[in-house]
Amino acid sequence: MSSDANTPVLRNCIRLPLPEEELLEVTAKAKDYAIMHGAAMRSKTAFSQDSLNFAPFVLVPSSFPRKEFEKAVALQPIINRLMHNVAHDEEFITTTLAETIKVDEFTANLFNIYRKVLAHGFTQKISLGMLRSDLMLESGCPELSPRALRTTAGEDAAADVGKGAGTAAAAAGTGRKEEEKEKEKEEQKEHRENQLSRATKERERRATGIQSAYCCWKQVEINTIASGFGHLGPASKTIQRFVLSELGHADKLHNMPNNNALAGLCDGMVKAWDIYAKPKAVILFIIEDVSYNICDQRFHEFYIRETYPHIKVLRRTLTDVHREGKLGLAKELLLGTQEVAVIYFRAGYEPGHYHSQAEWDARYLMETSLAIKCPSIHYHLAGTKKVQQALAQPAVLERFINDPEEIKAVGKIFTGLYSLDDNEAGNASYEMALRTPERFVLKPQREGGGNNVYGVDIPDALKRMSRVERSAWILMDLIHPPLTKGYMVRPGGDMPPQIVDMVSELGIFGVVIGDAEHIVHNYQAGHMLRTKLSTANEGGVAAGLGALDSPYLIDSDDDDEQN
Ligand code: ADP
Ligand code: MG
Repeated sequence: MSSDANTPVLRNCIRLPLPEEELLEVTAKAKDYAIMHGAAMRSKTAFSQDSLNFAPFVLVPSSFPRKEFEKAVALQPIINRLMHNVAHDEEFITTTLAETIKVDEFTANLFNIYRKVLAHGFTQKISLGMLRSDLMLESGCPELSPRALRTTAGEDAAADVGKGAGTAAAAAGTGRKEEEKEKEKEEQKEHRENQLSRATKERERRATGIQSAYCCWKQVEINTIASGFGHLGPASKTIQRFVLSELGHADKLHNMPNNNALAGLCDGMVKAWDIYAKPKAVILFIIEDVSYNICDQRFHEFYIRETYPHIKVLRRTLTDVHREGKLGLAKELLLGTQEVAVIYFRAGYEPGHYHSQAEWDARYLMETSLAIKCPSIHYHLAGTKKVQQALAQPAVLERFINDPEEIKAVGKIFTGLYSLDDNEAGNASYEMALRTPERFVLKPQREGGGNNVYGVDIPDALKRMSRVERSAWILMDLIHPPLTKGYMVRPGGDMPPQIVDMVSELGIFGVVIGDAEHIVHNYQAGHMLRTKLSTANEGGVAAGLGALDSPYLIDSDDDDEQN
């Protein structure tokens, strides 16, 4: 959806296509490898508690510019601090969501819990933030605008050369000595040759699919609840490392960055458990009624037990917590006789997880308890699309970040984000969306994929809403990531798989722990890469359109990759 014939293509990690026999063999092995290393999910079509399918994956890692990857990693602690500060700014959260909660019932219910918790004072002042900042490369960024590309590709070079000729004519007119004229001619020739050689090189790069890797990146969204793929992120690297080695490219493995997401996130939970300081207390995972993405939860549980044998993890639905949960004398959360130190929400981010008032009551019970929540209600609200849109407005970051360099760095990651509130600015965004819908994506206050409206579908969707109903949504510029080409392997898919055009979305994990006054832990905690067909709007892996992937870091200047 966000690509066309002019979309740049990132060069491949290895030369494709693979010979069919080799492809068949390595794909079959990789499927088994994936299942046997927990890169797997429960089947939605043939669900069974007793079996797993491998999760869809990309056979060979997709290229990603090293510089941009490193920038994203370095920025994460700043984003962590930003979100921590936003979550603790009552006035900002309240004014930002004021219009939205008038029309969006789900956000209003969350906000009501927030209001009640504020009224009684936070029992637990410490929050555990386990964030994931999702981003895509933008091939139309200023550093690589179509015009800039054309210039390097030589289409504007003629104009440049012409300019040189003009200067020469002027020089001739002044009647300078023949010698000088000769010298000038030589220089012009050299200049022209340089231009042409650059242009030819660029044309060759394009023809062979070797595209400049210089793209900036833009944030798609920031997740503050149920930021998944802490296990599947590193697991994707494990599969692709195996595949590259099988294909005789072990020499390339050093370009696949380390990924300690699972350890980073679980250690975050354990740091919060330490702060709670009750040796018998447990960590509680709040789960959906049915967990298809089971590996990405169980591996967290297993890691904690294996690394910290004295800590127990329990799994409960919101409905279970309503049935079993109560508060002790010091407002500790008790499930039966077990005290809960830390609550990790892998559910509770969409209306469907709250079947009745019972589940809302359970959420409130947990929010008022002494347990350290990931996320606590204010962190959940800070992760709404509306807050993201508000943060991207001029001068807003200054409220949360002191360092001007950091403000500049964070400001650059936002693409255009527009309010649709019922006021002058909101109405202007509405008109803009009707005029040029193909530039935008329309987003409600929801998580988990499948809720957005894209491009030409936007006008109808907007026209069906009243002016106030629009405030439940935000409008965002579409990001246009470069393409990669590769094999996507899916359960029940073609064998051998076909080469397809794909686009990727990188997620950088961050952990931040603290209260309104102090941050006690703040670190970047690994990454994940999801890749989808370039024709798909969204690429949720659990939802079925995306595939596990991991970055293969490329430098724009190496030309050694095509072997
Ligand atoms: P959710 O909370 O449902 O995950 P997202 O904002 O992440 O919502 O959107 C879902 C998906 O839609 C993203 O993973 C991405 O593939 C696509 N998407 C979202 N925003 C944009 C955008 N501005 N440009 C291009 N694709 C986008
Ligand atoms: Mg998302």
